[in-house]
Amino acid sequence: MITKKVPFYSLGYVTESLGRDLLSAFGGVLESNWFIRGPRSERFEGVFAKYCGAQFGVGTGNGLDALTLMLRASIELGYLKRGDEVIVPANTFIATVLAVCAAGLVPVLVDPDRETCNLDVSLLEGACSERTRAILAVHLYGRLADMPAICEFAKAKGLLVFEDAAQAHGAELDERRGSTGSPTETRDERLETKDERKVARSTAAAYSFYPTKNLGALGDGGMVVTDDAELARTVRMLGNYGSERKYVNKYVGVNSRLDEVQAAILLEKLPHLDGWNARRREIAARYCSEIKNPLVRVTPVPANPLSHVWHVFPVFCERRDELQSFLSARGVETLVHYPIPPHLQEAFTGASDSLLRHGVLPVAEELARTELSIPMGPGLGDDDVSRVIEALNEFV
Ligand SMILES: *Cc1c(COP(=O)(O)O)cnc(C)c1O
Repeated sequence: MITKKVPFYSLGYVTESLGRDLLSAFGGVLESNWFIRGPRSERFEGVFAKYCGAQFGVGTGNGLDALTLMLRASIELGYLKRGDEVIVPANTFIATVLAVCAAGLVPVLVDPDRETCNLDVSLLEGACSERTRAILAVHLYGRLADMPAICEFAKAKGLLVFEDAAQAHGAELDERRGSTGSPTETRDERLETKDERKVARSTAAAYSFYPTKNLGALGDGGMVVTDDAELARTVRMLGNYGSERKYVNKYVGVNSRLDEVQAAILLEKLPHLDGWNARRREIAARYCSEIKNPLVRVTPVPANPLSHVWHVFPVFCERRDELQSFLSARGVETLVHYPIPPHLQEAFTGASDSLLRHGVLPVAEELARTELSIPMGPGLGDDDVSRVIEALNEFV
């Protein structure tokens, strides 16, 4: 009865559309016989930082490491100290929380806004204690968190702001992509200058290039993006055994670097990212206007459509599991992002309870119970989109 499945995400589309270019990029690395920390990773770091409107990019082995090293570098530089509390949205992917813990900091989980699924700024005040030192905003599903409001709150409280941008490559705050980068020491001064008042910026942002992200490698990869030269330098050292000069170790570092093969692939893919994101926005606009089922809630297109890159298109339904089976029977693939919120994960319950701090989190728990991600990606055709919409509207 079903002719063809509507895939949740077609990675094959991206790979096939760039087939030859990816092969020759890979061939170039093979011929160069240079695989770690070479000209391609250096070039991609520069190009991607510029794309983000920031000065420095430091490649890492993956997104979790980018987050962890960004925070660890902030500790080494004295911006933060071990045991400090960092505010994190309670409905994020587990890696955000793991990174805060791995850096020796304490995540404080805050309920998200039900509509945007991002940090609810009105709850920040109540989440602060005398140990709170930073906010790690997550641009969940590709929608930029309310950075101007978050940065304004942080400024008033003397907190740092960091970004988990693992799902938001190319999302723009005004004309800038992401909001990354004002150097920590001069952040206050820069906020006083005219054009910076409008766009308060974070200390640094962490990206992931996991294959299915909006910009994905052929394996793991990540990057820290910042305007803070010292932070960039420290992240680079931490990811290279704590060393800047061979066999001289300043920090207790790790090995976490973006390799030449991944950098070569990402250099090929980056010029296509804006086009892919534009296609995602087209699909999202159709979903938002054509899904008309009182049982299915969608998140609206933001006032500035460019601030959302729709890494995921979430719908919310009280009978989520039933809806998922219903769609599956009609050939529509879906996933849940995410079924269990971090505070209910075994890793954080029971004996290790003191690892994080949180109050009641009704919105995060509701989202976990009702979220369903429907097909999204640049490879999705108009007919596929129509089939998804029809199937959703038929659910009773
Ligand atoms: C993917 C992701 C990460 C982790 O990135 P990896 O490269 O998979 O380690 C962190 N945070 C969020 C929000 C993500 O979606």
